Amino acid sequence: MEYEIIPVTGFQQNCTLVWCSKTKEAAVIDPGGDQDKILARVDALQLALTQIWLTHGHIDHAGATGDLAEKLNLPIIGPQKNDAFWIEALAQQSQMFGFPAAKPFTPSRWLEDGDTVQVGEQVFQVLHCPGHTPGHVVFYHADTQLAQVGDVLFQGSIGRTDFPQGNHDDLIRSIREKLFPLGDDVRFIPGHGAMSNFGRERTSNPFCGDARS
Ligand SMILES: [Zn+2]
Repeated sequence: MEYEIIPVTGFQQNCTLVWCSKTKEAAVIDPGGDQDKILARVDALQLALTQIWLTHGHIDHAGATGDLAEKLNLPIIGPQKNDAFWIEALAQQSQMFGFPAAKPFTPSRWLEDGDTVQVGEQVFQVLHCPGHTPGHVVFYHADTQLAQVGDVLFQGSIGRTDFPQGNHDDLIRSIREKLFPLGDDVRFIPGHGAMSNFGRERTSNPFCGDARS
């Protein structure tokens, strides 16, 4: 499995291409915008983009999904269905944040905790991690100990919980009971900013680390 982070939109959201080194099939996680930039990398890396995976329904993560899915006839996989209200509100979200109009879509497949998703020969586990949004999911590749965590956890910080149906206690529980048990060595790509690993956050993150009981 290989990956490349492509920051997109004015929010510099960490859209990520993940692909199977053997088959060159790729999935794009969270195409929030700048689809030309994403497709240029797909071409340059000589990949076959076959799927779109979503961590949650916020505009900076999902904004280009409808367009891209239609253009390339791609299935849209995720998030968990409790984020349906966010996806239905993408048009309002794009207005509110000054994004290009987002084409409406309905995911081809909603995900649940314990599901797996696959691209080429690479299998990722799905963890339902509510709190930032109620249907937020995380994609975890156990073989390489790499997680794409969206807006659940950041280096030194955590996701906002002041949006509709956000819940701080749920978020902390998601991090401590779903993510940290995967192991200190697991590296993660957050929705924004630099990568980190769970051990570093567990020991030093002021919002969800061990020091905060
Ligand atoms: Zn978000």
